[in-house]
Amino acid sequence: MRPARAFIDLDALRHNYRLARELGGHKALAVVKADAYGHGAVRCARALEPEADGFGVACIEEALELREAGIRAPILLLEGFFAADELALIDRHDLWCVVQATWQIDAIERARLTRPLTVWLKLDTGMHRLGLAPEQYRDCLRRLQALPQVADVVAMTHFARADELDSARTAEQLATFQRVISGQGAGGTELTASVANSPALLGWPATRAQFARPGLMLYGASPFANPHPVADRLRPVMTLESEIIAVRELAAGEPVGYGARFVTERPTRVGVVAIGYADGYPQFAPNGTPVWIDGRPGQLIGRVSMDMLTVDLEGHPGAGMGSRVELWGNHVRASDLTERGATSAYRLLCGLKRVPRTYL
Ligand code: PLP
Repeated sequence: MRPARAFIDLDALRHNYRLARELGGHKALAVVKADAYGHGAVRCARALEPEADGFGVACIEEALELREAGIRAPILLLEGFFAADELALIDRHDLWCVVQATWQIDAIERARLTRPLTVWLKLDTGMHRLGLAPEQYRDCLRRLQALPQVADVVAMTHFARADELDSARTAEQLATFQRVISGQGAGGTELTASVANSPALLGWPATRAQFARPGLMLYGASPFANPHPVADRLRPVMTLESEIIAVRELAAGEPVGYGARFVTERPTRVGVVAIGYADGYPQFAPNGTPVWIDGRPGQLIGRVSMDMLTVDLEGHPGAGMGSRVELWGNHVRASDLTERGATSAYRLLCGLKRVPRTYL
């Protein structure tokens, strides 16, 4: 078999979930959309289910995959429903759903449900993607609170720039959220609130409201460009690994790979590794991107091909055919690749393809 594999450390996943909950101080909805950011939604949800307060997914197909695998914990549709007829499935499978537009409230009002729904009503505080405007939020809330089809309403918003720790935008979004939702529960009480994604939980303590929604941090990757004391406590969940399948001994002045993006300056041993951009490794990772060869730091040279990439074996006298190469994981952090402008940690993990996963 081709020696490309991804190891998924479920203990590290649990560790990161516990850290998210400890930081949030209350409940945490584990975001497992996009096949758990490339880690396998069913396996990750099963590993977390005994302690998770619920799961977040992007669409009903992802929710049904979890229900069909026997996951009974609450599941939130983070983008709500796309058409009114999805409400029957939401009802049948007992899902929670985001409401972000008035047409969805109309649809709920018309729906015949067998049990009352839990709705997460989304306020647009500045992301300007999904969500109700501050001026319309309270009216929509009143409508929902009055519907027999609705059991409970959680107030939520989503941050646009929480990964930028020096931007005032997150504090402004939070202030808008608090102003609009303050005292809007039944009888003037406070609504349950949900605001924090991973960068907010890690870097903005003031955003740690009742129901956090961590995604990326569960998988052990930092959303920040620079080292961060709290993010440094995360444990990477995925290790992507392959092996050297050929070795070339090149003289000085020889090009390596497509486009001759690397030319040897001295006689160089080059290792060819069986992993490429069709597996999700960034195609435009630059020369010098870190890799880990047989337990020691090394570097990528030349352009990444579809199924292979090349590494410099200078400084690795013992390395050769069959040597193990870590592309990211415990030694090469996903953020080590993103710092070099190659991609984002989100895309890196979600982009894994073709590589079989082994769960530890
Ligand atoms: N909440 C919502 C509404 C989202 O769309 C996402 C992901 O995009 C998350 C939470 C999780 O974000 P992160 O992966 O940054 O923790």
